[in-house]
Amino acid sequence: MSTPIRLQYLELKQRYPDTILFFRLGDFYETFDDDAKLVAAELQITLTSKPMGKDLRVPLAGVPYHSIDGHVAKLVARGHRVAICEQMADPADVKGIVPRDVVRVVTAGTVTADASLDAAAPNYLAALAVRGNDTALALADITTGEVRLASGPEASLELVRSAPSELLVEDLADAAGEGSTVLRPQMSEIAAGAELARQFGEHARDTIVANRAEAAALAHLLAYLRETYAAALGSLQRVRRISEAGLLAIDQRTLRNLDVLKQPGRKSSLFEVLNRAKSPMGSRLLRQWLTHPLRDLDALERRLDAVEWAMTHPIERERCQLVLGNMPDIGRILGKVGARGAGPRDLSGLRAGLRAGLDLGMHLSGGDVPGLLHEALRGLAAAADALVTLDAALDEDPPAGFDEGGVIRPGFSPEIDSLRAMTRDARGFLLGLERLERERTGIKTLKVGHNKVFGYYLEVSSANTGNVPDHYQRRQTLVGAERYVTEELKEHESRLVGARDRLVDLEKQAFAQLVESLAAGLASLQAVAEAVALIDLAMALGEVSSERAYVRPRFAEGQVRITGGRHPVVEAAVGPGRFVPNDCVLDEESQVVVLTGPNMSGKSTFLRQVALIALMAQAGCFVPATEAELPLFDRIFSRIGAQDDLAAGQSTFMVEMVETAQILHHATPDSLVILDEVGRGTSTFDGMAIARAVVEFLHNRKEVSARTLFATHYHELTSLAGVLPRVQNMHVGVHEEGAEVVFEHRILPGPSDRSYGIHVARLAGLPGAVVTRAEHLLVELEASRPVVGFQSQPPASQVQPSLFGGPSPVESEVARLDIDGMTPIEAIQKLYELRAAARAALEGPRK
Ligand code: ADP
Ligand code: MG
Repeated sequence: MSTPIRLQYLELKQRYPDTILFFRLGDFYETFDDDAKLVAAELQITLTSKPMGKDLRVPLAGVPYHSIDGHVAKLVARGHRVAICEQMADPADVKGIVPRDVVRVVTAGTVTADASLDAAAPNYLAALAVRGNDTALALADITTGEVRLASGPEASLELVRSAPSELLVEDLADAAGEGSTVLRPQMSEIAAGAELARQFGEHARDTIVANRAEAAALAHLLAYLRETYAAALGSLQRVRRISEAGLLAIDQRTLRNLDVLKQPGRKSSLFEVLNRAKSPMGSRLLRQWLTHPLRDLDALERRLDAVEWAMTHPIERERCQLVLGNMPDIGRILGKVGARGAGPRDLSGLRAGLRAGLDLGMHLSGGDVPGLLHEALRGLAAAADALVTLDAALDEDPPAGFDEGGVIRPGFSPEIDSLRAMTRDARGFLLGLERLERERTGIKTLKVGHNKVFGYYLEVSSANTGNVPDHYQRRQTLVGAERYVTEELKEHESRLVGARDRLVDLEKQAFAQLVESLAAGLASLQAVAEAVALIDLAMALGEVSSERAYVRPRFAEGQVRITGGRHPVVEAAVGPGRFVPNDCVLDEESQVVVLTGPNMSGKSTFLRQVALIALMAQAGCFVPATEAELPLFDRIFSRIGAQDDLAAGQSTFMVEMVETAQILHHATPDSLVILDEVGRGTSTFDGMAIARAVVEFLHNRKEVSARTLFATHYHELTSLAGVLPRVQNMHVGVHEEGAEVVFEHRILPGPSDRSYGIHVARLAGLPGAVVTRAEHLLVELEASRPVVGFQSQPPASQVQPSLFGGPSPVESEVARLDIDGMTPIEAIQKLYELRAAARAALEGPRK
């Protein structure tokens, strides 16, 4: 026979089978059975057992109630789902078994404890739905109440860009494998409509979503939250759409290649260089700007106006930043307000934040601030009303919990005030009793004390117990002392306890009402938090731009003209003045730049720098250059050399080709493409052939003619500039200074010096005979590697014997290849097939 508690536990566990169930028992959260074994192993806590019926002992592992957050954080981070079961009544008030229920299931996408969150990043729960030809992604960050919708191609881009912690899908086949994926039952149109109406009002389906896919995605989010953490629904006020036309598309790999965000194993990132935000809200907004660059000229100019204002108003900026430095994370506090889970300290933080918000308004309202900051000022206005409400009700310095009273400000409620006076009187009386009883009994050492078990008592040392009056009732005997109570003491104590219990109840009620009234105006308070974030970020960007001499980018159709461009992250790493600035021009005449130069000369840095400047400009940031004119790109693509993606189980070369194919499929004349050492992952011949085919494709196909920077160590590619009109050669300058080779990191026009490697060999002290022989061989090699065009097939006489005797099968095949009739993937595949031939050619003569 199991005990009633055991039965209660089993019933709950059955309802939450795929979770670890933390079962509240007094001051502990306990886990049982297999959960206990798992938890003990994961958290490294003791596994014990507990009798729970006749002849029944079950495994048990538990944690004290106050440390639950940290433990749950650890388990969720390891991919577990945790159900929290609470006691639904005070054990003192119920006869028999305390009712218990699961109040919340904590999952990766629904955690709210600070221990589980990064203050500078959102935590997204996402839902993906497909209906007919429509795909939609809904995102919610319940810590702040942010909700976003993305549709069509934006949905999949947004899925990788936003890196949700948890993804809900109806069909596992669609799961992108990002974060933890939860399979959900199919959502009917009617059910979806009902969910939306319940959360956002009757007409939500017509006003918020554009199609059935969007309705289903959003409804999945809502339904899942209802099951796991229904209270969180209270913070979701407004749904924002991720506009399709308004964004620059940038995929996850490019974000990674460019070190846009902090990532493990990398020293620094663009985010870290730019993040001078003083509050977590500003940091999160910076992250949002960097991962969602715009194509909307108007919106960009408005951002740039705000940054420029902050840059050119250092005094106002510093004043604002001083205020922002003391700004609590009101965005996340409001998330708790919405979920009705805010405590007294949260609201006092909110109040401090709202006060700071008004100060910000003051510092800005004097000046003639540009549009975006002006709007932010308007957003701050709601702070004033909420402050009045908070100030009236909340004590100036409230305690963290309710047990001791003192949460509600004196004067707010006459009833609370009078109860407080009563408790003060009763406590005063009890403390005064010590003097009174000493006089009455003549016992000079008599003391009034208090402990949790016995409450108030009178303590008399053993030497004096003979003088204790008859009406003293003995409660406890200690070494050398006795403790007593009297009727009078008990009466005052019960008055004190009664008044205090009542006081705590009333304060809790008043506080709940306060939270409720703040939640009623949640949307406008969220606007305050957004305004603060915007001001914080504008000031941060103003600061970093002025400190690092960034300039305002100009947008012009069709061309990139960067003067004195720098790589923001490398520049920050090497220190002021140590980075060599470089220009970049990409326009009608130079659509494709082929960049050559020895290893470590700065090719990759230059490519990334141009892409980063473009991204920063479209994020609304100033850029590291002395002058920058850029088009509004639709996408930035990157393929950055020999980075192995072995984890994905694909060979480096295959990954390279998959990525390259993707670029060739999706690039447009409005795109920016940076290709770093494409072809490196395979043998020289087909690597070179592929590299060349890619350049030609980007150059010749009008519909994919993206602005392209191509860094390569295949010197042969420099000959393309002679064949293709819009291809230009650039190289990285190097010179010898005495016995040393100096990398100037300067990007110069024209191809690099072919014999550079041999110079280095000589400098390194290779015997003269070897160097001379190498020079000879080089000349031979040059002669034996004619330029073969895909379009203009050279006359047979021009195909010279290769190094291995006879024309290389690859070269002649490539020469015959007509890629114009092929799709990019076909061309790549064809070239890929040539690998075998190349290998045969290389291996044959070596035997
Ligand atoms: P490559 O791609 O040609 O092998 P990288 O771009 O990786 O060369 O650059 C090698 C190193 O040279 C970088 O890590 C950086 O420290 C330094 N570097 C590159 N460009 C510059 C520059 N413009 N100014 C100063 N240092 C640079
Ligand atoms: Mg490189």
